[in-house]
Order: sequence, then structure tokens, then C-alpha cells
Amino acid sequence: MCRLRVIAMLVAVCCGLSASQAAASDATCVTDFFNGRPKDAPLDPTAADAEGMIRQVAASFNLVGSIVIIPCKLVSKAEAYVAVPCNVCAPGENDDKLAGEYILYDPDWFREVAGRERMQKYWIFGHELAHILNRDFIQRQNESQLDKEKRADFWAGCAVARMKGDIKSLDEIVYKLRREKDDSDGYPDRETSLQLTRSGYQSCSPEPAKPEPVTVTYKVCSGEYENRCQTHDVYLYCHGDVGAWAKPRCTSYKVQRLNSYGGNKCGYSIDAVICTGPK
Ligand SMILES: [Zn+2]
Repeated sequence: MCRLRVIAMLVAVCCGLSASQAAASDATCVTDFFNGRPKDAPLDPTAADAEGMIRQVAASFNLVGSIVIIPCKLVSKAEAYVAVPCNVCAPGENDDKLAGEYILYDPDWFREVAGRERMQKYWIFGHELAHILNRDFIQRQNESQLDKEKRADFWAGCAVARMKGDIKSLDEIVYKLRREKDDSDGYPDRETSLQLTRSGYQSCSPEPAKPEPVTVTYKVCSGEYENRCQTHDVYLYCHGDVGAWAKPRCTSYKVQRLNSYGGNKCGYSIDAVICTGPK
């Protein structure tokens, strides 16, 4: 018998199981995992991919720690599960080695959801990891299961943004995973979930990259006769005020003396105007 003190919380994204049924399935998969895979059981070919995606989302949440990722056919899609050490064990019984934080996922679901639906996985992993991030397994007064699920949906949107998904993908994901009306199953209704997940997406979207400022360099020659100037773009008379020329033409600028030589009335100088944001 499992001696884990299970914190009964319904954290499955979508399933018809009761909290205790879900927790029992989770515990079974965790126990099997630690007892070792049966010798003739096939390896899950998607395991590395699934683990990679989950770790990617966890890293994007700055979720550090040792989350154990386990394929589990008993869960619906994916679930977060936290097992705390057993503190009421009978003598000789101890399941402390199972204590920890887990993400369980259904390998069949993982394999089937591919292509453009791939963001659904990030959304679900984001939702489940948010339960760990937000320490939702701790019983808190004044906080309902619905509040926790709403917050997790917000973070699910954040995960899609951090994984560079399109905001438009959220409509399809939420449509599939949330019901039109809140059926008192602890999850927000579709419209509420969509609003939350969109605001999570927006709050986690990187700032649009600012375009590199445009810089143009002009060569300015100052002297008595333009035909005595070396190669130049702009001509000014003797002792021309290069800064005064650049100021109305550039958002900001720098003047560098390139050359000067004698001749005629005032000699000649060649300046480079490095003009940022030409007007
Ligand atoms: Zn949840």
C-alpha cells in the first residue's frame, strides 16, 4: 500500500476523475517508475522530446529544482504531482524516496499531438508547472481550486509566449481544453480561461525588438573653393560650422576631423559627420 501522504488536489488539465482517483493514478506511476521499468516494456520513443519540452518551459519560468518527468498512461494529457515525505508511516515502512515534484504525461497523447498543435503541449506543461511554481499543493485558506486553475491558465499563456508560439494558437487550445460553461469542476469556463491565458501571453511576450538606428556618414569640406576640396558630400565656406550644418539634419551626430591642408584664404578641412537618425 502506498504510504505517501497524498495531497488530494485535482490538477489534471481535463479529466473526469475525482481528486483522490487522480492522485492514486499519479502515485501508481511514480511508484512504478522508482521500482524500475519491467524488462520487456518498450522504451517510450518520445520521452526525450517530452522531457526536453517540459524542461524548456520550466527553465523559462526560472523553475529550478529537481522535477522528475515520468510517462504515465494513467493520466489524462499531463499532471503535476507533489508527494511529501510520509510522516505517519508504520514502523519499517518508508516511502520518503518518492517525495518530490513530478510532471506526469501520457505518452500516447504526447505522440498524437504534433505539428501545428504542438503549442498545446507547451500550454499544458506551462499550466502544470505553474501549479508547482505557485506551490498550489499547499492548502491555503481563502483560495479555491478555481483560483489556482485560473492562475495556472494565466501561466499557460505565458509558456506559449516564451516558447514563441503565436497568440492566435491560444483560441484553439483553450477551445479544446476548457468547457463553454464552468461546470463546477474547478476549472474556469472557456471565455475566462481565454482572457487569462491571453493576458499571461501578453505579460510574457518579449518587447518587440527595436530596429537598429540608421547611421549615415557625410564628408564635409570647408574652404574657400569647392573645387579645391578632396572627395566630399557637402561643401561649406571657410571655417564652416559643421555642427550647425549637422544639427537640423540628424537626431544625434558626431564630428570627426579627417584631414586638413593649407591653401587659398583659410585652408581646407575635411570632417566626417556620423549622423544617427538622419531627418
Ligand atoms: Zn490545473
